[in-house]
Amino acid sequence: MISIASIDPNTITTYLQTQREFFTTGRTKDVNFRLAQLEKLRTLVTDNKESIIEALKGDLNKPEFESYAMEIGAIKEIDYAIKHIKKWTKPKKTGVPLEFFNYSAKILPEPLGMVLIISPWNYPFQLVISPLVGSIAAGNCTIIKPSELAPHTAKLLAKLIGEYFPPEYIRVVEGGVETSKQLLEQKFDHIFFTGGTGIGKIVMTAAAKHLTPVTLELGGKSPCIVDREINLEHTSKRIIWGKFINAGQTCIAPDYLLVNKKIKSDLINALQQVLQEFYGNNPEVSPDFARIINKHHFHRLTELLKAGRIIVGGKINPEQLYIAPTLIDNISLTDKIMEEEIFGPILPIIEYTDIQEVIEIINSKPKPLALYLFSESKKLQEQVLTNTSSGTGCINDTIIQVAISSLPFGGVGDSGMGNYHGKAGFDTFSHHKSVLYNGFRLDL
Ligand code: NAD
Repeated sequence: MISIASIDPNTITTYLQTQREFFTTGRTKDVNFRLAQLEKLRTLVTDNKESIIEALKGDLNKPEFESYAMEIGAIKEIDYAIKHIKKWTKPKKTGVPLEFFNYSAKILPEPLGMVLIISPWNYPFQLVISPLVGSIAAGNCTIIKPSELAPHTAKLLAKLIGEYFPPEYIRVVEGGVETSKQLLEQKFDHIFFTGGTGIGKIVMTAAAKHLTPVTLELGGKSPCIVDREINLEHTSKRIIWGKFINAGQTCIAPDYLLVNKKIKSDLINALQQVLQEFYGNNPEVSPDFARIINKHHFHRLTELLKAGRIIVGGKINPEQLYIAPTLIDNISLTDKIMEEEIFGPILPIIEYTDIQEVIEIINSKPKPLALYLFSESKKLQEQVLTNTSSGTGCINDTIIQVAISSLPFGGVGDSGMGNYHGKAGFDTFSHHKSVLYNGFRLDL
């Protein structure tokens, strides 16, 4: 049963007051304190792997391997922060022009204060923990609003965070849209939102009232281009894995394929073979294939199955919220499936003859969160990367860019603003204060 009742506004105000008071004590500014909290967060994850896997199974029937790789894998972010925090928090000396020789200049990172993290249901654990790492490392207090659509994980997060951290430092507030709206009425020092583009606009509007800076991690239609110059086996494995992990409910999943006409039929054959290899004859009984989050998304997705010609898949089971991994051909750019983010296990395939067509298709749509290109041609790689814009990019692979802590992760345009992971996360949740120092020996 999902609890979506709103909270008494006075209660929320008290939560914030308590955190504000704790922040004012200055304890979170101590780097050793932050380090200890990151260690604690690490213990929270490692000591509770089984409950995390169980909660994710309850919400999405998430396969165990996926839970390890994509959710518990957030530990890598924690380790990276633990390794680098001392360096990140050090004041950075910066040069001054010759005529200011008696001055010195430094950039001092300081915490912003109170952070609100609002997260979605598709990676309901990882998408709370990863931004939390940045917020802790930067020395903030944090309120987390997990997604009500992944209630098992939301409940577990509330329990674990409550056990490992005092509420005046980090608190989970469970609830749905109403609770989220109530939280957004409050003044935070930063709001970190992950979710759909439409809700992102609501969040930004609410934040504007308080001049609160926002990071918006949104979605969109991430194209995947397949040129002729490829290794067919590796390409098809990497596409199938990236598309059908979490049953396609991944913000950076390849949304649609743009395939060179000359290789299209070979690619389709290879994709079918890999599907069989990964999920067997009947993916419905495969332990490696997740379910759709709820009825609403299930029905939305079954509508998208009506376009084009289904090459493989198309089978559904409403009781199980199961949609088979599906490849669709004969899609037109005006079909509904090409207008909205699919966010499910359906992969439309569109052929092209010239890369210029591909660039025009991508540029006619809002800027995507990720762009994938399979091609060994350096010239083509450069041409595509130079002439398109996307939050992230990955050449000859899918999804993996999200796992590299030294690569900032975030969108551009409709796919979001700001970024995080590794140092980018620390920077997002910090204010970089510029300070110029003079002395009294000389007076110019
Ligand atoms: P969503 O936008 O519906 O919900 C996200 C959060 O916002 C939830 O916690 C929800 O309670 C809250 N919310 C919903 N309506 C609200 C409102 N009117 N006012 C205030 N808060 C509200 O997103 P979702 O369905 O949970 O997630 C799917 C979307 O998230 C997809 O578009 C996907 O691409 C995107 N996403 C992006 C990333 C990323 O890293 N960029 C990661 C995962 C998902």
